[in-house]
Amino acid sequence: MINIRLPKLQLNHDNKLFWSLFSPVFGISIITCAFLIFSRFNDLDDNLYQRTQHITEQVATTSEYAIVFSDQNMMYRILQNALSNQYISSVQLFNSEQKIIAELGTEFVVKSTNFPNRSEIQTFPDHFISISAVHYNNNALDGAFNPQSDLFGPVSQQNLIGWVKIQADTALVQIKKYQYASLVLLVFFAFNLGSGLIFLRITKQLILPVKNVESTLNKLAKEQFSAAKLLRLPAEYQSLQKDLLFLTERLEHNKHEMNAGIEQATEDLRRSMDSMEEKSAQLHIANREAMESNRLKSQFLANISHEVRTPLNAILGYTKTLQKGIKDPQHKLYIDTIEQSTNSLLAIIGDILDFSKIEAGKLSLESNHFNLRALIDDVYQTLSINLLTKEKQIDLVTEYDVQLPEWIIGDSTRIRQILTNLIGNAIKFTHQGSVKTKVSCQAQSDNKLTLLFQIVDTGIGIPEHKIDRLFKPFSQVDTSTTRQFGGTGLGLVISKKLVEQMQGKIEVSSDPSIGSTFRFSLCLQASGNLMNQKDSLDRHIILLEPSSTYRAHLTSYLHSIGVKTTRCSDIEQLISALHEKASTVDGIMLSLGPEESSVEETKELISYAGQHFAIPCIVMIQPPRSITQNPELKALASEMLLKPVSHDRLYKALQQINQRGIQGEDDISPVIESNQTRKGLRILAVDDAPINLQLLSHWLQPHGIDVTLAYSGQQALALASEQAFDLIFMDIQMPEMDGMETTQQLRQLNAYQNTPIIALTAHALGSEQQQILASGMNAYLTKPIDEEVLFRTIDEWCSNTKTFQQQVDATLVNIFDMQKALDIVNGKADIAKEMFTMLADSLDNEKKLIQHHLEHQDTEKLIEVVHRIHGASKYTGTFNIARHAGFLETHLKELGMEDVEGVAEDFIHAIDDLLNHRDLITWSQE
Ligand code: ADP
Repeated sequence: MINIRLPKLQLNHDNKLFWSLFSPVFGISIITCAFLIFSRFNDLDDNLYQRTQHITEQVATTSEYAIVFSDQNMMYRILQNALSNQYISSVQLFNSEQKIIAELGTEFVVKSTNFPNRSEIQTFPDHFISISAVHYNNNALDGAFNPQSDLFGPVSQQNLIGWVKIQADTALVQIKKYQYASLVLLVFFAFNLGSGLIFLRITKQLILPVKNVESTLNKLAKEQFSAAKLLRLPAEYQSLQKDLLFLTERLEHNKHEMNAGIEQATEDLRRSMDSMEEKSAQLHIANREAMESNRLKSQFLANISHEVRTPLNAILGYTKTLQKGIKDPQHKLYIDTIEQSTNSLLAIIGDILDFSKIEAGKLSLESNHFNLRALIDDVYQTLSINLLTKEKQIDLVTEYDVQLPEWIIGDSTRIRQILTNLIGNAIKFTHQGSVKTKVSCQAQSDNKLTLLFQIVDTGIGIPEHKIDRLFKPFSQVDTSTTRQFGGTGLGLVISKKLVEQMQGKIEVSSDPSIGSTFRFSLCLQASGNLMNQKDSLDRHIILLEPSSTYRAHLTSYLHSIGVKTTRCSDIEQLISALHEKASTVDGIMLSLGPEESSVEETKELISYAGQHFAIPCIVMIQPPRSITQNPELKALASEMLLKPVSHDRLYKALQQINQRGIQGEDDISPVIESNQTRKGLRILAVDDAPINLQLLSHWLQPHGIDVTLAYSGQQALALASEQAFDLIFMDIQMPEMDGMETTQQLRQLNAYQNTPIIALTAHALGSEQQQILASGMNAYLTKPIDEEVLFRTIDEWCSNTKTFQQQVDATLVNIFDMQKALDIVNGKADIAKEMFTMLADSLDNEKKLIQHHLEHQDTEKLIEVVHRIHGASKYTGTFNIARHAGFLETHLKELGMEDVEGVAEDFIHAIDDLLNHRDLITWSQE
């Protein structure tokens, strides 16, 4: 039922209506009564006053002769006459000496009196006293008619001969007033009663229909339409009654329509819910399928990446081998192109793999200590070797804020990836000018650092309308560059995701007439490593650098490490500076120009400076020139550095400038030395791809290593059981029995419990690395394998006398104590294992909880979690976790969240350490 809410009608206003009609009438009647009474009272008072005055004067006039003639009779008759008036209670006559000569009536209330010359009335509450002087008028009297003139003495014209004093009572008037007032009040009450009754009736007649309308409206509100239709109103309200009836019918009709609409809508809703349910089920299925296909896609990508890397590995390896022997420049160009293309292909595969990892949310960051400045130098060196050409000679400059620590904690691989992409792009798209990488600190709190990186180039820039597209997958502003440099259009997308994962932001501003600036921030940590603190060198060098930008950069760096510079822009300037300052100068630093002649010039200059002044020379060369191409120059120079110079190498070169003398020793040998200890080593190489095996044996055999090849896991096991090997290279992905399973089986053979097994893998996922180590392998190399790294690994593992178990134990010594774990449960390994597994399984979630509570500064909840882990870790041999949990718990209880970051971080590291190495723990079988 629809609940129509009408405002409740307040028609209970009968009283109001009655009073609004009756009160004016009532008010007017009160005013009228008051007026009538008041005016009547006034009239009566006036009347009495005037009458008293009049009688007094009358008595005074008439008693004139009586006084003159001392006619007592007359006096009394006059007084009698006056007293006959109903209001007069007493009358007195006084002679001229103010003595009473006649008196009638009651006694005067007030005795003492003034005797005025004329007349006067005094008013008292109950009576008036009127006095009038009696004068004798000579003109009016004839002396013959004045027989008593002797009696009363001579009378002058207008002589005062006495006074008349009359007392009038107001009692009668009061009675009249009361009578009148009573009458008026009676009329007043009768009138108001009558009009009240009339108004009451009128009110009732007016209100009744309104009440009926009210009750009808209430019925309408309650949807009682039939009851509402029964409304009957008096004839004068017929039109209202008609309208109400019409309204009722309309409402009734609307209600029916609405009900029908609701029923229809409910039906529709039910149907659409059914279809939604169906759709949701379909979606669910589709989602499951999508997830499955996503998983298959990731699997496919991982496999493809492996499959593609394997042949690429061979191509790169053989290319490098070929490069050494080829003399024909044309052939060399072909080989270089093959190498370059293979490298781009590898980069593309890396990008696609990274992108799919990011899409699947599987990319996890690692944390290590690294030198950021050296990393940037390294990125520059690699990129400059690959991207600079004879035609493209640009300045590559790092502006590293001197206040900033060089050692940082973060994921150096991913930071290198971001920088390589951005700086690589900047170099690709800049044809002249410079590419600067500026690093500064944006914010710092405790040991947390927010670093701002800016890669500023003077290249072709990006049109404004295309900037939005930059961070979208597979988008390139100008596809023609793809042909020139390769690239998938994924670099920036991956960089953006990586930056965001490190709680940073990336943005770009660009102007085709100026160049582009890519800016990104990263949230990292300063490492306590103080290796970057360099002593001031106190040297003086002459610097020849034709590029003003690079010259300014070098000067500022040299200044920061205590090296004084005399700057020159050409050889002539340098020679004159040498002549002038030879006695104070410690060395020369010069940049080899791009022209062919500059090599000869430089050689001459170095010899000259050495022979005449014994001043050593550091030579800087810019790719595409390479150090190995100029062995003579290298032999002459005290040091040869590739531009942009690595700051560390430059520092070392300057440090050694005096000690090394003019003829510097060669310290870097790109050629892999033949190491006598490798001779006679027996190595088993296992891989399902024959091409990779061939490459391995091609590399190893010349060094006198005895290489045995196995094309599958089974063959490797068979070979291993027949003969002994010093080291095994094991491919991971092989059909039937993969590398990890083969290793596990090999480890079961007595002879192979401690043999170093090195994985060769195309996969680089962090989780896989753990699996590889957990399966019993000692280390892993990622394809494509570098010849130099391969030999370094062989040297490292073959000189290693530790057994595999010893290495594992050494790793676990600071993480887990098996003895303690067993002691607690009386040596019962299965119970110890169960308890350990319970704790280890819970740690991932607990870690998230800890991070959550840390973020929300919730001390109590954090203590709860830490306490729980503390308790559990004490009984499971995980003493490192127990120790750090103890520290954290105490800290939280005593100091709360203040400076807790470091302690909490150590605790989380302890958890990570355990989780990363838990697979290495072997439980003895009971
Ligand atoms: P790719 O791996 O193909 O280089 P990126 O995502 O790194 O892909 O870059 C996408 C596109 O953005 C490039 O192809 C280029 O057109 C443009 N771009 C990136 N950096 C710069 C730059 N510094 N100057 C001009 N264009 C740039």
